[in-house]
Amino acid sequence: MATMDSLIGLVNKIQRACTVLGDHGGADGFSLPTLWEALPSVAVVGGQSSGKSSVLESIVGRDFLPRGSGIVTRRPLVLQLHKTENGQQEYAEFLHLPKRRFTDFALVRKEIQDETDRITGKTKQISPVPIHLSIYSPNVVNLTLIDLPGLTKVAVEGQPESIVQEIENMVRSYVEKPNSIILAISPANQDIATSDAIKLAREVDPTGDRTFGVLTKLDLMDKGTNALDVLEGRAYKLQHPWVGIVNRSQADINRNVDMIVARRKEREYFASSPDYSHLSSKMGSEYLAKLLSKHLEAVIRAQIPSITSLINKTIDELESEMNHLGRPIAGDAGAQLYLILELCRAFDKIFKEHLDGGRPGGDRIYGVFDNQLPTALRKLPFDRHLSLHNVRKVVSEADGYQPHLIAPEQGYRRLIESSLNYFRGPAEASVDAVHYVLKELVRKSIAETQELRRFPTLQTELAAASYHSLEKFREESRKTTVRLVDMEASYLTVEFFRKLPQEVEKAGPDARGSTPANSANNSAPTMDRYSESHFRRIASNVSSYIGMVAETLKNTIPKAVVHCQVREAKRSLLNHFYAQVGRKEAKQLAQMLDEDPALMERRQQCARRLELYKSARDDIDAVSWAR
Ligand code: GDP
Ligand code: MG
Repeated sequence: MATMDSLIGLVNKIQRACTVLGDHGGADGFSLPTLWEALPSVAVVGGQSSGKSSVLESIVGRDFLPRGSGIVTRRPLVLQLHKTENGQQEYAEFLHLPKRRFTDFALVRKEIQDETDRITGKTKQISPVPIHLSIYSPNVVNLTLIDLPGLTKVAVEGQPESIVQEIENMVRSYVEKPNSIILAISPANQDIATSDAIKLAREVDPTGDRTFGVLTKLDLMDKGTNALDVLEGRAYKLQHPWVGIVNRSQADINRNVDMIVARRKEREYFASSPDYSHLSSKMGSEYLAKLLSKHLEAVIRAQIPSITSLINKTIDELESEMNHLGRPIAGDAGAQLYLILELCRAFDKIFKEHLDGGRPGGDRIYGVFDNQLPTALRKLPFDRHLSLHNVRKVVSEADGYQPHLIAPEQGYRRLIESSLNYFRGPAEASVDAVHYVLKELVRKSIAETQELRRFPTLQTELAAASYHSLEKFREESRKTTVRLVDMEASYLTVEFFRKLPQEVEKAGPDARGSTPANSANNSAPTMDRYSESHFRRIASNVSSYIGMVAETLKNTIPKAVVHCQVREAKRSLLNHFYAQVGRKEAKQLAQMLDEDPALMERRQQCARRLELYKSARDDIDAVSWAR
């Protein structure tokens, strides 16, 4: 039979661990509700000065909460009570001060005040950021209690108008969770019909299943009146019995009346009261603590299956996330080198998929050849270069002091060679365009390599080494394509000129076989040779020769570019990187595998959480078997 303590203690332990992990209230990227939310806790709700903090202190049996009139509790206080072995010293611990054990409870109170002010300033403002406090004591029952700011009706001096609503919203956010047990505090010296606590509890828990009605200040009721109507459930019926409480009055507090004394006085009050003596075994803060603890145990017992299933689901989720994040890296150089090469392979595979299809991007290279290059070739300024004026100028210059006699051989050569130079531009532009496509694909492939995500340093180095290789390929490609252009200039296609209709034939008899007799008649054709139509014909011949070369280059430049850049990128993109890695020492390899700190943090968080959930599962198993 698992004892009450072991069950609630277990939940407390889990909640505490959740708290330390920051695993409460969700919003940390885990999709399932957190374990904390699945576990029950007790929230104390009531109007300002109704006695909430006093009730908590009575339950704990210790004097440690800031108390008084006005708004004192300005941040939620999550109070975890851990029962320890008899004879052990009592101490308290704050989540925000994990190393410090408080044995002086006056200092605990001061720290609560200071920590409240740290967030809200010394104002009357409130904050929903909870303070977490654990108390370890043999005199407590295992419980998690949450002290909340009191509900108010009006804002006081120094508070914004919105505070009334803000407090209500904050309190509501705690009590509306189905796992929350509501400790609804109402003062007996006020009409229960005006109780803020009951009003809110009824809204969030209409059936009253999880609401415990607590009536404080019984000692302050007017003489001749009593609270039996409420305590006996006639005034307002709840599923659980009402509990009457007599806390220390302000005067007691001022006189430093000991909590133990106060508890005794409370017991005596009920035992000797003519109105309540018949109820005395079911009144008082000690009884309330036991009642809550018992209820909590029943709730937890009923929830064990769903808690276990939540834990199992979360463990599955965490484990799959761990797989996704990757396991921690091995320490020795061999394993590291192996991992780096694995990662390179994964990247290289994706890069090739981009080029060969399967992934987009490789088609943009074809775009360069099919679109950009032909357009660039078409747009070359041959019109201007082969204008009548320029042709005449180039030809005349080539002729020198003696004008050409038959065909302007030198003029042709010069015109063609200078025209061919223009092809360097589009050739180099194609090389560059493909270079940028490849670079972009490297960048994309790195981003798309899941396995690389955790290694930003390696990503950078891989990119740098790849860019270095691409740069080398570009240079090679540039040289090759320019060479293609130069080759065109270094030997002209004789065929072409052979096929040209010979002007001289039109001008007179066969020019090549001309005899001195014929040349006597040459004055007229010579005139013709320098006429506009003569130069126009030269321009048109050169132009069609250039057109023919453009056609050729349109085909050969892509071949050169693919050969030098694309094919090389597929074959040896990472060679440079491999050479570098091969020279690295163990320490440098480890540096390359430097993980993204955010990721490392996430993995650690995951691992810690996994550990927590697994140990929670073991604990719950143990407790349920013990039943
Ligand atoms: P909270 O604002 O709801 O947390 O209320 P506190 O616990 O701070 O109590 C407000 C004031 O009411 C304090 O001065 C307490 O001493 C006083 N008080 C609370 N409960 C009782 C009670 O049962 N009897 C008497 N006489 N005074 C009480
Ligand atoms: Mg209070």
